[in-house]
Amino acid sequence: MLQVQNNNELRAQIREWKAQGKSISFVPTMGNLHDGHLSLLQIAREQSDKLVSSIFVNPMQFDSSEDLKKYPRTVEQDCKALMEHHCDLVYLPTIKDLYPSGMEHMTAVTVPDITLNQEGKYRPGHLTGVSTIVLKLFNLVQPDIAVFGKKDYQQWRMIEKMVQDLNLNIQIIAGETIRETDRLAMSSRNQYLDDRQHIIAAELYQQLKQVAQAIRHGKQSFSSLTAQAIESLNAAGFSVDYFEICHQLTLQPGSPQDPLVILAAARLGNIRLIDNIEI
Ligand code: AMP
Repeated sequence: MLQVQNNNELRAQIREWKAQGKSISFVPTMGNLHDGHLSLLQIAREQSDKLVSSIFVNPMQFDSSEDLKKYPRTVEQDCKALMEHHCDLVYLPTIKDLYPSGMEHMTAVTVPDITLNQEGKYRPGHLTGVSTIVLKLFNLVQPDIAVFGKKDYQQWRMIEKMVQDLNLNIQIIAGETIRETDRLAMSSRNQYLDDRQHIIAAELYQQLKQVAQAIRHGKQSFSSLTAQAIESLNAAGFSVDYFEICHQLTLQPGSPQDPLVILAAARLGNIRLIDNIEI
């Protein structure tokens, strides 16, 4: 597996593969890889001749410098896992490589509408940070296919829209959310949960499942369903940011006849968890 930090070196390798007619799939990450990430690599591996991944903790998408500083960095271990998953190249840029003149005067890409609510509302600037870095990485890696996790549902839908709106010639594939044995969605942040918090954390998906089940059984009173779920989660020890039943494509409030997704974000102490379920 090639380990590349320099942008020119990356471009040269991509050019060589393109000249050989190789197709390229891409899985961008912030590292600290777990089975969720690895499942995306597996999907990507099957789709193309060359598999590229990146590890970059993108400062532009963090709302607090504390959170950024604390973000777990395990590059050596990650590279081993990438190699085991037959990754051909891992791109490991530094902040200077991607933001040589700093972030303040950077061109940023904001995807409208779909980013207004949920994460867009509770983490101002976060989604713009994500769309901007993903577009930069797309321009450097020039993949035919890119794979994202449904775990970050709004992020995935936003990237799909960006690709469509900006005519990027990249196929976006979504991988299902990989969960721990208690069904808690895998996340780099789970390691901060103590045993008691871990038990409570699993309740987030249980509530999503219960509401999804109720809707499948014909319940149409969405506002009372979400109010009950929020009450139960708050009673369990969460502080709920949102728990919303939405249209799968627009992420606007959904109606019973729509393709639906329930999106939730809640904090346990200072650990913020997000999860969702499609109906
Ligand atoms: P991150 O390293 O958090 O930026 O995530 C990199 C990619 O992995 C994103 O596309 C995430 O949606 C995806 N991902 C994170 N957690 C999971 C999970 N539990 N299951 C599937 N994909 C995930």
